[in-house]
Amino acid sequence: MLILGIETSCDETGVALFDSDLGLLAHALFSQVDMHADYGGVVPELASRDHVRKLLPLCDQVLAEAGKTRQDIDGIAYTAGPGLVGALMVGGAVAHALGFALGIPVLGVHHMEGHLLAPMLEDNPPGFPFVALLVSGGHTQLVRVDGIGEYEMLGESVDDAAGEAFDKAAKMLGLDYPGGPRVAALAEAGTAGRYRFPRPMTDRPGLDFSFSGLKTFTLNTVNAARKAGELNDQTRADIALAFESAVVDTLAIKCRRALEQTGCERLVIAGGVSANKRLREGLEKMAVKLKAVVFYARPEFCTDNGAMIAYAGAQRLLAGQQDGERIAAVPRWPMNTLPAVGESRLS
Ligand code: ATP
Ligand code: MG
Ligand code: FE
Repeated sequence: MLILGIETSCDETGVALFDSDLGLLAHALFSQVDMHADYGGVVPELASRDHVRKLLPLCDQVLAEAGKTRQDIDGIAYTAGPGLVGALMVGGAVAHALGFALGIPVLGVHHMEGHLLAPMLEDNPPGFPFVALLVSGGHTQLVRVDGIGEYEMLGESVDDAAGEAFDKAAKMLGLDYPGGPRVAALAEAGTAGRYRFPRPMTDRPGLDFSFSGLKTFTLNTVNAARKAGELNDQTRADIALAFESAVVDTLAIKCRRALEQTGCERLVIAGGVSANKRLREGLEKMAVKLKAVVFYARPEFCTDNGAMIAYAGAQRLLAGQQDGERIAAVPRWPMNTLPAVGESRLS
């Protein structure tokens, strides 16, 4: 079964072709980051319009790369939410129009399920059950996963998401969006131990997170250094490292708890922040002690992409799920309301 995957939930247009027998055939991404940079954030209306411009050319591009035509497609998966409603509508409208014209099933997919399943596109994919840490621009969640669509929410951020905290810390350090990779790069030159940031909500039981306090702590540290006339490149690197270490330690402590609590021996990390090298290392170090194994996607499939939507959609389309005639665009959508797929997982 050949599935076309379409991602347009925010500021990235992603398209991919996934073959249920052969795996991923082609994928393409266009990022609008440069366009939104002038405004200091994503402008929803501009995002929608740019998806309109880029989506069909990207579809043609992946078809050409895979040596396929539109008539070869057996099903279409698009991101139905959560995300910006106008941006979601573009992907949904194109998916439904193509599906109607070709007479093939179409399915709206949950964006975070896409992130969650992205590590399945790699060699040695994780088996069920596992604990998943979803760390992206809009979400920080710990989920027990017993199968596709079998999600038990173990904990989540009560305020900012981890990626959002990286982006805000980056801004305070004078770095551009997306801040995560830039903070990580700056932290490379940091001196360990010069600053020590708190590990929020680790002094009490539970699996929830809070990152807004770290944001304030970063701001206070930056301001104090500026006042003391010490806000040079080295100091900025030292603050970046202290911030990153605090986020990594906090996530590792909660992941350890989640593994102990569930008895799971597998930890899957997904979403943009799972591309972070220090986070991967920190979680692997923690997991070794528990004899657990950590799984993650290649960096380009940690952030938004079409491949994860094609993969997640393929699992559900193969199980017979599909949309009716209506386009689904769901800005807010809890992942644990999704239906289970059962045993039909692909390798
Ligand atoms: P959501 O998936 O919750 O709707 P989103 O789609 O905007 O939000 P993603 O595309 O998964 O989020 O991830 C983007 C986020 O990941 C940004 O906040 C970015 O700063 C962060 N990020 C990307 N790479 C890294 C990295 N190497 N280190 C830390 N953070 C990173
Ligand atoms: Mg993005
Ligand atoms: Fe995302």
